[in-house]
Amino acid sequence: MGFRDRGVEIKTPEQIAHMRRAGLVVGRTLELMRSSVRVGVTTGELDAIAEDAIRSAGAVPSFKGYHGFPGSICTSVNNEVVHGIPGDRALAEGDVISIDCGAIVDGWHGDAATTVAVGQVRPDVSELMRVTEEALWAGIAAARLGGRVTDISHAVETHVRSQGDFGILEDYVGHGIGSAMHQPPNVPNFGRPGKGPKLVRGLALAVEPMITLGSKDTDVLDDDWTVITGDGSWAAHYEHTFTLTPEGAWVLTALDGGESRLADLGVPFGGR
Ligand code: MG
Ligand code: MG
Repeated sequence: MGFRDRGVEIKTPEQIAHMRRAGLVVGRTLELMRSSVRVGVTTGELDAIAEDAIRSAGAVPSFKGYHGFPGSICTSVNNEVVHGIPGDRALAEGDVISIDCGAIVDGWHGDAATTVAVGQVRPDVSELMRVTEEALWAGIAAARLGGRVTDISHAVETHVRSQGDFGILEDYVGHGIGSAMHQPPNVPNFGRPGKGPKLVRGLALAVEPMITLGSKDTDVLDDDWTVITGDGSWAAHYEHTFTLTPEGAWVLTALDGGESRLADLGVPFGGR
């Protein structure tokens, strides 16, 4: 492992393999979350299920205690965008919940998030979910060895803008990841391509569009964690951790390594 280009951590193939193990724990936990979300379940109950799944897999929940965060996952409901604290809130029919999960295996991190509908959501909310998830994959699909970090940013923004009038958060961004959850470089969800550090083998990035049905502006609740939209509009958040190999892209937090979604986008799969 080495550091170069403004603190960017370059992982060996063996270290990436550790990150894949962490990524699979995260991917499986989010799969479990998707099947656990239902009317009446509390965000605290989801947190307990997630923590048990992460620890049973021999991993450590990276969020727990991170700068004092009390949960093992972030649970952000409706107008909450990210960093919601699990607790007594019971989910209701038509709610939407974004669940963010991180796990550590042998010191290496995985980080991913998904947004889940509680029963039947409004059509504009399901559109928001579709657009946000597609933007995540468009971002990953735009990454090439020798390219630049903001190639991803530009692809995320371009996809979102092509789909309608949505808010793209600017105050919160994706990030490098490896031996720590948050590392350089930042990965914004907007901007011109061709900027930022070069995309090289051994770099791992968490791409995470946070998109709203209204404004890009946010506030933080009095709990000092929960990020809400400034205008009360609802939000979605999808995230994956990925890396580039000479063969193509490898989505470390996707159960299939991203193979099927990348194939749909005509992008070579770089996993193994
Ligand atoms: Mg995350
Ligand atoms: Mg992240």
